[in-house]
Amino acid sequence: MNVDLNLVIDVLIKQYLRDLSDQSFIPVKARERLLTPLEVLIGVVLSQNSTDRNAWRALESLLDYYGGRVTIDKIREVESSTLEALIRPAGMYKLKARTIKNIASRLRGEGELMELGVDELRRLLISIRGVGPKTVDVFLASVRNVLTFPVDTHIRRVLYRLGVTGSISERYEKIRATVMEQLPPVKLLRAHYVLILHGREVCKARNPRCASCPVEGMCARRGLNERL
Ligand code: SF4
Repeated sequence: MNVDLNLVIDVLIKQYLRDLSDQSFIPVKARERLLTPLEVLIGVVLSQNSTDRNAWRALESLLDYYGGRVTIDKIREVESSTLEALIRPAGMYKLKARTIKNIASRLRGEGELMELGVDELRRLLISIRGVGPKTVDVFLASVRNVLTFPVDTHIRRVLYRLGVTGSISERYEKIRATVMEQLPPVKLLRAHYVLILHGREVCKARNPRCASCPVEGMCARRGLNERL
C-alpha cells in the first residue's frame, strides 16, 4: 500500500499541533528564550537519547552557572568534571560533555554557526565526534531555517510502520530524502514535530495504540503489535 504521507501529516497536524506549545522541544523553547546558536546546538546535543524536559533542565543548569550566556571560551575553559556535573540531568553526561567540548574546540568562533555556507557548516558539524546527522539537521532547520527533515528514532519507527519506508533500519539519508520528496517544504518542520509526538504518544515502540490512532486507516502495519 502506498501511503499518502502528505495526507497523514495533515491528519497528525490537526491531532497534535495544539500540543506543540506545551512541549519542551529544545528548538521551540530556544526561540522563546532567545538562545544563541551555540546554546541551541548544545541543547540539541543534550537532547540526544533524552527527554526534552531533562535536556532542558541540563541546559538551564549550564545557563545558570554561566549567568545566562554560554560561550565557546567558557566551554573551552571549564573542567570536564564540572561540565559533566552541570549537564548530568540529560543523561549520558560524560559522552555529551565530551561532544560539547569537541564542538568548542572545532569551531573557530560562534560566528561560524551563522556565517558558514550551509554545506560547509553541515560538513564541519558532522565531522565533530559525537555530532550525528539528526543533531545537524535539527540545528540547520531551527536556527538556519534550512529546508531539511531531521529523523529521530520515533520518526524512523512511525514511517516504517506506515509503509513510507521499506525497512526499520533504512539509512538516515534515504529516509530524509524520501520524506523531502513527498512533502511540501513548508510542512517539513511541523511534520518532524508531529511524527515525534505520534511516536511518543500513540505509535509507541511497544504496544502501539492502533485502535486510537488517527491514521490507522492509512497504515500498512496497523494491528501488528510489533515491538520496534
Ligand atoms: S495504526 Fe498502529 S502501527 Fe500504524 S501508525 Fe497508527 S499506531 Fe502506528
